[in-house]
Amino acid sequence: MPSVASYALHAVDGSFERTMIERREVGPHDVNIEIHYAGICHSDIHTGRGEWGTVPYPQVTGHEIAGIVESVGSEVTKYAVGDRVGVGCLVDSCRECDQCKAGNEMFCKKSVGTYNDTDRYGSQTQGGYSSHIVVDENYVLRIPEALALDVAAPLLCAGITLYSPLARWQAGPGKRVAVAGLGGLGHMGVKIAVAMGADVTVITRSEAKAQDALRLGAHHALVTENPDVFKTNANSFDLILNSISASINLADYLRLLDNCGTMVYVGAPEHPMPLDIGSLIMGNRGLAGSNIGGIRETQEMLDFCATHGFGSDIEVISAQQIDDAWNRVVAGDVRYRFVIDNSTI
Ligand code: NAP
Ligand code: ZN
Ligand code: ZN
Repeated sequence: MPSVASYALHAVDGSFERTMIERREVGPHDVNIEIHYAGICHSDIHTGRGEWGTVPYPQVTGHEIAGIVESVGSEVTKYAVGDRVGVGCLVDSCRECDQCKAGNEMFCKKSVGTYNDTDRYGSQTQGGYSSHIVVDENYVLRIPEALALDVAAPLLCAGITLYSPLARWQAGPGKRVAVAGLGGLGHMGVKIAVAMGADVTVITRSEAKAQDALRLGAHHALVTENPDVFKTNANSFDLILNSISASINLADYLRLLDNCGTMVYVGAPEHPMPLDIGSLIMGNRGLAGSNIGGIRETQEMLDFCATHGFGSDIEVISAQQIDDAWNRVVAGDVRYRFVIDNSTI
């Protein structure tokens, strides 16, 4: 089995170390990708630091992968050497169940995550903080020419995670959409919702980010530092996309929804949160969740971003800076996605 270089965690409280890991031989349907860039998603941090449960080590996270096809298996038809490609949160699923056939691979009982999962050959999957990855062609995405690889990488998780619920809840002209939490996911939510034609508000803790939200295209911004904003802006939105990574008072945010509005959770905090049910009942409000998106929809999202001419706002780092970058993500100090230059691995 080919050995490739990666940056891995070796303990729950450890730091990243350059580590050789095994990738499988390129099978007939596989694409071997030289990874050029890998985004740092907050889910990498929740996982690597054991916040969602214990994980095996070494652990190589990263599911926002952009690179170039280096070799292909004998039966591969969709991709050729030199193609610009991406890999997101899923690298396999059963391909036969109703969910797979409908393009909802994330619901497949046999879906395989890009890292911290077990593949169909019984090996632990390892993610994108590495030089190469081998993936079945059906789980590889095409990155349009209009998107540079570095700004495209974060679309593979942050982009699809916001695109899917915005499409499902029909963000568009006349819809008052708020995005809570202006981080990696949130800033993509702003760009996509604006491109869909919605009236977009950012809800952030930070006055500086509120200013920046307008640069990103948002029409309004609320700063939660002053708790009065929750009262003065009650009943203001049809849809809230909540990307906040930590526990909050849910009722405060739910009461920002107008009657029959919905708050869709994409943020995945470590701890359960209590819910004042009155904030749902009064106003017939809804609380929902959304988990990434399927392969077809991910391609649709990449093409949508290319057509509208935007990728992610990024800060490129070397592999040696990952520990520092993780701490800065947790502190909310990134505009808006760290992307690893994988040539430094
Ligand atoms: P991120 O870049 O760290 O952004 C999270 C944002 O949450 C921060 O920028 C901050 O926004 C806000 N925030 C953090 N702590 C807060 C607090 N105590 N109170 C209020 N706001 C707070 O993270 P991300 O990569 O966008 O991911 C966000 C969450 O989504 C994570 O939990 C991640 O695991 C999850 N996720 C879910 C999916 C899915 O499929 N559902 C996919 C990917 C990620 P401000 O600075 O603007 O206040
Ligand atoms: Zn992610
Ligand atoms: Zn399936």
